Amino acid sequence: MKVLALLLALAASALGKTLFNGDQVLRVHVEAEEQLQLLQALENEQVWEVDFWLHPVAVGRPVEVRVGSASLSGVKDYLQTNNIHFHVMIHNLQELLDEQEAEMKESEWLERSGRNYNFGSYQKLETIYRWMDTLVATHPNLVTKVQIGMSYEKRPMYVLKFSTGGTNRPAIWMDTGIHSREWVSQATGVWTANKVEKDSSYVPYVSCALGYIATDYGTDASLTSLLNTMDIYMLLLANPDGYSYTHTNNRMWRKTRSVNAGSRCRGVDPNRNWDAGFGGPGASRNPCSDSYHGPRAHSEVEVSNVVKLIKTHGNFKSFISVHAYSQLLMYPYGYNCRDVPHKAELDSVGRAAVQKLASLYGTAYKVGSICKIIYQASGGSIDWSYDAGIKYSYAFELRDTGRYGFLLPANQIIPTASETWLALKHIMEYVRDHPY
Ligand SMILES: [Zn+2]
Repeated sequence: MKVLALLLALAASALGKTLFNGDQVLRVHVEAEEQLQLLQALENEQVWEVDFWLHPVAVGRPVEVRVGSASLSGVKDYLQTNNIHFHVMIHNLQELLDEQEAEMKESEWLERSGRNYNFGSYQKLETIYRWMDTLVATHPNLVTKVQIGMSYEKRPMYVLKFSTGGTNRPAIWMDTGIHSREWVSQATGVWTANKVEKDSSYVPYVSCALGYIATDYGTDASLTSLLNTMDIYMLLLANPDGYSYTHTNNRMWRKTRSVNAGSRCRGVDPNRNWDAGFGGPGASRNPCSDSYHGPRAHSEVEVSNVVKLIKTHGNFKSFISVHAYSQLLMYPYGYNCRDVPHKAELDSVGRAAVQKLASLYGTAYKVGSICKIIYQASGGSIDWSYDAGIKYSYAFELRDTGRYGFLLPANQIIPTASETWLALKHIMEYVRDHPY
């Protein structure tokens, strides 16, 4: 495997892929206000190559930062001089990336040689799109593929619609992968769509997919009853250009790929671009920032495509957006720290959901509003959906809490998706039983 990884690394550099040789990810402990300000300065002044995976927002909150190899000694000196404690979480980022890529190649090879889709592996956009066609072909009476538009780079954006009939039934929305580098999000989306299809099928469905959980065969009465009254819409690749770019050029890419007029930097943070406190705190006006909000609300076609669908449909009751990482289940608001009118209900549903989630492997989640649990962040999707009247608006931050961060190993995909499903199902059932 080591030789394969080396060959892949050589091939990658020949193709102009961004390499992260010697880059480290540091966990930094913020123990005082002064230290917080020093870290914020480190982020804002852009003297060193630093990419904050978890931003410095408050004393006592974890901070994680990827530091470019050339900046390592400078940044470590800066921290040590200022008596800021840290430890190294990832010693050489490129090594982890090589391992992940080697694993993907192996899985791709297996798929090409006739095996089914491997849910326990990260997959390319084309593979996911191919799998969606297979899913729809298997149960055309249950699943349809709805194209909601094109991305900036003209990739089709597909929503899987699970419906057993009726017209414009109340519906549940779920999107994954709006931030492209959060790969376990998209992978969880794919697994979940497969799960919904399998569990709600009346016809026994036999699959030999790798990573398949044998005890999941058969139908689930509660899901069947859910689909008797509601539809489920799933957008698995909410940022297709970004996702493709994380495979071809830069694994750490988070934003869209749109060109920013007058800037050499591309892309807008698609979760700062919604018309909800747009341009407020927790979003950047700098096109080179990873949290750049864009020139105006809904400027990103990936965002406006979703807005159009939700508004035209008009009967969504729940809007769930899936991110990684930190193990959080959050509800509005992010753009300010006021309690939303349904705070008590959203909080108790959220708490029950994460209890279900933890019942599988003991994975611990925190529950709260975005503003109180992470930081104030404007222009987020679930704030928009809540303000648009969709009461049950939630955002997940999946595994882990920083051991691997965005590079969660593929062998954690199925455990992550399986536990998340218990929380998702709880929310969906609650929504079914509490019509409004
Ligand atoms: Zn995210």
